[in-house]
Amino acid sequence: MMKVIFLGPPGCGKGTYASRICEKNDWVHISTGDLLRSAREDSEHGETIKKYQDTGGLVPDEIVLAVLKKRLERPDAEKGFILDGFPRTIPQADALESMSKIEKVINLRIPDHVIVEKILARRTCEECGNIYNIADIKFGPNDEYRMPPISPETEGKCDKCGGSLVSRSDENREIIENRLNVYREQTEPLIKHYRDKGILKDVDVTGPPAIMVPKILGVIGED
Ligand code: AMP
Repeated sequence: MMKVIFLGPPGCGKGTYASRICEKNDWVHISTGDLLRSAREDSEHGETIKKYQDTGGLVPDEIVLAVLKKRLERPDAEKGFILDGFPRTIPQADALESMSKIEKVINLRIPDHVIVEKILARRTCEECGNIYNIADIKFGPNDEYRMPPISPETEGKCDKCGGSLVSRSDENREIIENRLNVYREQTEPLIKHYRDKGILKDVDVTGPPAIMVPKILGVIGED
């Protein structure tokens, strides 16, 4: 049983690492971005959610907190979870404290230019949300870090469910810049917030999931 937050800029790999780590440990991967995207269809707030998500702004707390609370109350969350994309502001972190006791915060670090390249290369399955990467990205002081493509077996189709692979509507350069600004202004203060509480660990992104998943698992397992 472990309750973990993944912090880090959009595109740092939070979603991919969280989903793989949860599969291995039988924890649940809770992405507020995904929960909100699903809530667009059946919620009275669908239009509002779409407006904020399409421009990269933050969906109002009232809506996000309601969606998250409902998810945390499902019995499977008792086995442990990774929060991906929440909290994004100090007030959200305060609200979370009254819902659940977080044990660890993993702060994923990655250079900005890699983020932009990586988000532009990301493809998501329309049906199941599985994530692929169509570019081969090299970075680091001597280009020693690499994110090779994560390609589907059949171009444009998900390996897991056969669904179509698409770029999300918020995955273009202008909106990525906006999401990065929102991250710097509103979410980055959480790094100090959790560091001061003594539960934050930094992890540099230096490679593909095959490298990052064991690295992060090792840090989650440390005291
Ligand atoms: P993500 O999938 O985490 O990149 O989130 C995609 C979009 O969903 C964000 O740009 C926001 O519009 C919205 N969103 C996700 N999580 C939150 C949150 N914790 N608070 C407010 N908006 C959120």
